[in-house]
Amino acid sequence: MCGIFGIRGCEDAARVTHLGLYSLQHRGQESAGIVAVEADGTAQSVRKMGLVSDGFEEERIALLRGATAIGHTRYSTAGASTIDNAQPVFVRFRGGHIALAHNGNLTNAVELRGELEAEGSIFASTMDSEVIVHRIARSRALKPEDQLAEALSGVEGAYSLVVVIGTTLLAARDPHGWRPLAMGRLGDAWVFASETCALDIVGATYVRDVAAGEIVAVDAHGMRSLPGPASTILHRCVFEYIYFARPDSRVFGGSVDRARRALGRQLATEQPAPGAEIVFAVPDSSNAAALGYAEGSGLQLEHALIRNHYVGRTFIQPTQAGRDAKVKVKYNAVREVLEGRSVVMVDDSIVRGTTTRGLVALLRGAGAREVHMRVSSPPITGPCYYGIDTPEREQLIAARMSIEEVGRAIGVDSLGYLSLDGMLAAVPDGPGGFCHACFSGQYPTQPPVDIKRYRAGG
Ligand code: 5GP
Ligand code: SF4
Ligand code: MG
Repeated sequence: MCGIFGIRGCEDAARVTHLGLYSLQHRGQESAGIVAVEADGTAQSVRKMGLVSDGFEEERIALLRGATAIGHTRYSTAGASTIDNAQPVFVRFRGGHIALAHNGNLTNAVELRGELEAEGSIFASTMDSEVIVHRIARSRALKPEDQLAEALSGVEGAYSLVVVIGTTLLAARDPHGWRPLAMGRLGDAWVFASETCALDIVGATYVRDVAAGEIVAVDAHGMRSLPGPASTILHRCVFEYIYFARPDSRVFGGSVDRARRALGRQLATEQPAPGAEIVFAVPDSSNAAALGYAEGSGLQLEHALIRNHYVGRTFIQPTQAGRDAKVKVKYNAVREVLEGRSVVMVDDSIVRGTTTRGLVALLRGAGAREVHMRVSSPPITGPCYYGIDTPEREQLIAARMSIEEVGRAIGVDSLGYLSLDGMLAAVPDGPGGFCHACFSGQYPTQPPVDIKRYRAGG
């Protein structure tokens, strides 16, 4: 997963972008970057490994001049976690530049890259996103939006993009609408961001989402739209509502907070926990779902787990060793809340089971008498090929085991998941128009042909 941000028409666009990236940090913590473009087409780029907050030096940001900028926070789903793979992708092109920031995963990138390489293209990274840049560079179309449209035809999978070609800012979403992309206004400027919380932080007003399949172009003449095909079948990622997006955001036009509360209420209806005395979240991702469960069940909501805020999202460590070490320093249990009680722990999802197993041990250690776990999404039984790091099937605990076995493996007294139908009924604008492949096995596209090379990012 990644976060993207773009703005055109505002002095100091890079500083605004920098601010926007702070609000997109949860979407990717491995690297961050900004490209700024001046009116004459002069462009500068900064990219850094690590967090936005410790990522850029003031002097480097000061070099980024101009009224147009795009930015990216990255968490690798295809391609290794190295500076070569940090975005925005930034290349010289016919005397100018192309810069591109991508959220999503292309499912036919390996094939497209093979075609390009056979014709002599040289790649600077292992990212799927670089394929799009090469295809833009090859386009003979005159207008930037037509170049992008040509580049994207034949590209399959998930992409929300912000792109600068010359001095034109472009924003695009794939025809399935897998990943969110909101647009807003800041004075005369147009702003694009993965989530509306990034519009809020810069003081921009939300206008609408970039539509599935749409390409929006902003240049000196203003904003224009190239609509997508009329009959798009939406496959918006339901996991954005469950886990990924921030609760203060709207994605796909719906409130993430409202979605999670509704998921929690639905979970309380489907999976009550008779005899339990309190309910609590695994902070922060399930806070709103636990609130919904408390509302639905009438159980008292407590804070039984305290999270260390100086530790990032455990999954965003690309290796298992990094993840294991982080689980232990991330949470502690509050004995006064737990001792002698029968408790319900609500979480948004169980992926590998590593974190959950550790948490249950913490709760027992703090004296919980019974631990009932309730999950505000169905069992994850398949990998995601559309931009979220739920990797090989062998690593997904619910793909290998029955629900009872998962319960035993994580050490709970009972385990209950939300149903697929319950989930789709609870999210805004449901139940249709969502991707739920990792839960249901219904993949809207052919999975990548060569999974190993897809994972390696090339
Ligand atoms: P597990 O027990 O599977 O190791 O971890 C479950 C936790 O991981 C949950 O608290 C959930 O919020 C979080 N999580 C679920 N899916 C993802 C994901 O795709 N990426 C990241 N970074 N965290 C996830
Ligand atoms: Fe989202 Fe799951 Fe579909 Fe991936 S497979 S896009 S995580 S719903
Ligand atoms: Mg969590």
